[in-house]
Amino acid sequence: MDTNNPNISVVVPLYNEEESLPELEAWIERVMTENHFTYEIIFVDDGSNDRSWKVIRSLKEKNSAVRAIRFQRNYGKSAGLYCGFEAAQGDVVITMDADLQDSPDEIPELYRMITEEGYDLVSGWKKRRYDPIGKTLPSKFFNATARLASGIKLHDFNCGLKAYRKKVVKSIEVYGEMHRFIPVLAKNAGFKKIGEKVVHHRARKYGVSKFGWERMIKGYLDLITVMFMTRFGKSPMYFFGGLGTLMFLIGGATAIYLIIEKLYKQAHLLPIRAVTDQPLFFIAMGAAIIGVQLFLAGFIGELIGRNSSDRNRYLIDDKF
Ligand code: UDP
Ligand code: MG
Repeated sequence: MDTNNPNISVVVPLYNEEESLPELEAWIERVMTENHFTYEIIFVDDGSNDRSWKVIRSLKEKNSAVRAIRFQRNYGKSAGLYCGFEAAQGDVVITMDADLQDSPDEIPELYRMITEEGYDLVSGWKKRRYDPIGKTLPSKFFNATARLASGIKLHDFNCGLKAYRKKVVKSIEVYGEMHRFIPVLAKNAGFKKIGEKVVHHRARKYGVSKFGWERMIKGYLDLITVMFMTRFGKSPMYFFGGLGTLMFLIGGATAIYLIIEKLYKQAHLLPIRAVTDQPLFFIAMGAAIIGVQLFLAGFIGELIGRNSSDRNRYLIDDKF
């Protein structure tokens, strides 16, 4: 391990958490000193409009391990994590919510799991949760879907308390609202050893939750995006082109069937219906049109992919 870097970087994204910050900072400091860790705390103030920034400044005065970034406006938790990850220098990076729902006492064990047991990422699991049922129930459902879709056996994807090997946070790019899927991003980047640890969870002590009911809808849409990007992000033609061809073939085959049927009936002097009177005709037409559209979407996707800045970005594990 690099001796110039601190052992641990604690990244704390926060939005209007002025009451919790002093307590959180003192608690982290105590745990770090007791365990003889070198550390830094990176507060990312996500455009708070309360006194959070002032509080962070005063914390810096008494503890030089405090570092901080302040956004001009509120960008969301993912943006906070992204910038925190960029700034982090510790060998192990720990993320933690600012609202004191996550306990800094978990840090030593998380650190041990990364450095000694060889985990790339350890996610907290709020097995016993102190949140309203309107939040815990949808969350169970969400986690089950994410588990199924991603193949990662985690109970609690969205837990704010997570620990990462430094390389992981430098290899992934959290954007949009992707903070719920960091384990999936890590898996896609090639990190295989993803584990979890049961963590103590507490009810929010101060302030209010910053995410409302829309979190469920957004969560699902993001899940679809993540899965799609993983599988077809680099080759959209495989998805759209395949589906488009299938649709086009269905439409074409149906049209040919209609023509043959008509010719046959004509030849045998059977009663004929106008093609436009038959539902099949419209199905054939619809399928052909949709097929072409899908194909075009795939083609345009490929053209855009050619220009993407990370079309040739490969994560190198080792080289001589
Ligand atoms: N947060 C943030 N930006 C936002 C919303 C939330 O940095 O736009 C922070 C928030 O201050 C907290 C963490 O993300 O430190 C988790 O938020 P919250 O506790 O509201 O989420 P919940 O516990 O309800 O899932
Ligand atoms: Mg919270």
